[in-house]
Amino acid sequence: AAETLAGAGEDERAVEAALRPRTLDEVVGQTRVREQLGLVLEAARQRGRTPDHVLLSGPPGLGKTTLAMIIAAEMGAPLRLTSGPAITHAGDLASILSGMNEGDVLFVDEIHRMSRPAEEMLYMAMEDFRVDVVIGKGPGATAIPLEIPPFTLVGATTRAGLLPGPLRDRFGFTGHLEFYEADELDLIVHRSAGLLGVELTDDGSAEIALRSRGTPRIANRLLRRVRDFAQVRADGVVTIDVARRALELYEVDELGLDRLDRSVIGALCRRFGGGPVGLSTLAVAVGEERETVEEVAEPFLVRNGFLARTPRGRVATPAAWAHLGLAAPPVAPG
Ligand code: ADP
Repeated sequence: AAETLAGAGEDERAVEAALRPRTLDEVVGQTRVREQLGLVLEAARQRGRTPDHVLLSGPPGLGKTTLAMIIAAEMGAPLRLTSGPAITHAGDLASILSGMNEGDVLFVDEIHRMSRPAEEMLYMAMEDFRVDVVIGKGPGATAIPLEIPPFTLVGATTRAGLLPGPLRDRFGFTGHLEFYEADELDLIVHRSAGLLGVELTDDGSAEIALRSRGTPRIANRLLRRVRDFAQVRADGVVTIDVARRALELYEVDELGLDRLDRSVIGALCRRFGGGPVGLSTLAVAVGEERETVEEVAEPFLVRNGFLARTPRGRVATPAAWAHLGLAAPPVAPG
């Protein structure tokens, strides 16, 4: 898949780690989830129990991994990280679970992409802290029950709706992360600039915040790109003018739409007359995976009123036509 502004690359991990808030109090925004989660953790602490399993849902880059790390840190417990796609066999999961100690936090990113047998094993582990490990094949196969010490599962998914009901039901708490407001992103940009030693003006920060697609990961990424620009093409200070020139160079427009966003609404309007068109057809037209279009581009486009998901397919809104500088076709009768 093409590099998008919403997906993290390899070299980015270290910087991201350095910029991660370490406590619930350091987390900017998400007031509701923060308060709810704080209560879950505090209650568990008072009772001396491991907290209920937690499901975090929301588009990429909004803080799911960060919150998982904070849950472990606040409980003083080690965090084990894995992801749905990494668990291809139930055996992979069994070996992770059998290595856990009481109170450990297990983070499963992209939990909706786990294989079916692993998922079924996980139901049992979540509910009864026990799994059946099957040894051998065919008629001679035997299931050996294995006890697992109580642990807390933190699952992350881009859309809670993608999870099968039985799995969703086994989480004691579900937190939905929302896109961030510009003033929250502004705080994040200031905080990150401080940590990275970047000099920036208030209007420079506000400009980056406005164009960050409501997403902290993108805010941090744009800050670093603008910093590069400030260093090479200006005097190192991130001003509004520097931010605008840099973001234009990186093809992030005034409303924060990036190349993928524009190519989705562009294809929708130019090739499909504004839709409705099916997701798969649209994905092929922009040369991306279905999941990338659906989970990375669409949530932002829908939330900002550029695209509508209808039972008959994706439809461009008048705002999308206007943003592309195109005249919307007349509304068809009926
Ligand atoms: P996700 O797991 O949802 O894809 P992450 O937790 O990896 O997102 O967050 C991506 C980056 O954004 C992190 O490096 C973190 O620094 C930053 N970030 C996310 N949420 C917040 C927040 N609420 N406050 C400050 N920074 C945040």
